[in-house]
Amino acid sequence: MRPAAVLTDLDGTLLEHGGVLGADARAAIADLRLLGIPVVPLTSKTEVELGELLAQLDLGGIGGFENGAGIVGPRGVEVSAKAMAVDLLDRHLTGLSGLLETPLTPVSELTTAEIRRITGLPEERIPAMLARRFGLPFLAPEGSEAGLVAAAARLPGVRLTRGGLFWHLSGDHGKEDALEHLLASGLVSRPLAGFGDAPNDAGFLSRCDVAFLVPRRPGEVDAALAAAVPGGREARFPAGRGWAAAVGELLREDFR
Ligand SMILES: [Mg+2]
Repeated sequence: MRPAAVLTDLDGTLLEHGGVLGADARAAIADLRLLGIPVVPLTSKTEVELGELLAQLDLGGIGGFENGAGIVGPRGVEVSAKAMAVDLLDRHLTGLSGLLETPLTPVSELTTAEIRRITGLPEERIPAMLARRFGLPFLAPEGSEAGLVAAAARLPGVRLTRGGLFWHLSGDHGKEDALEHLLASGLVSRPLAGFGDAPNDAGFLSRCDVAFLVPRRPGEVDAALAAAVPGGREARFPAGRGWAAAVGELLREDFR
């Protein structure tokens, strides 16, 4: 199937740990560009980070940021009506922490050294990562998962998700909202190929015509993601190398 667009998560899917684009992925992006197929990131990253990556990687200028809080495209930035401002989310996180009697640590309270250790990002990329307007990444202690999920479910208009590195509190939107908006405004069209590695990718992958699940380690796709996207195909390798191999598979199928 030759896709009209490739929708992709970034961290752990297209990009290696540390936000680096590997040689294989770079070559696959170039192949897609030659065929006129845009690569559209749907990411939990901020609008600032997304804008930088779209420019650096020459992907096509379209994408969704902060887990579907908004999209960037030829008309500029469009924010979803479901997005919730970060100061309100911060108050909700403080409330959850008190209710559960558990420390929940927003990423803004971590030191630069801690953020670097967790994300692998170079120091100069951290301000863009913290420029978050509609979502709150945070750390929760092991074992607090069930209580956290139950308590967050009682907050109206709020969604709790688990990304590859952090928990996220946001308005009740996901990457699938960005995809619906892109489809409705004609910025992408079917057939769509989707790539992701974590449960917060399941919503948009389920809406794609073909979905590839990128493993954390060879053969180890996230179990919750695999369960949520039963038709998903496993990429053969982790991150960008697996992404590139899957793109190659898809394009070869087209020419058979
Ligand atoms: Mg990811």
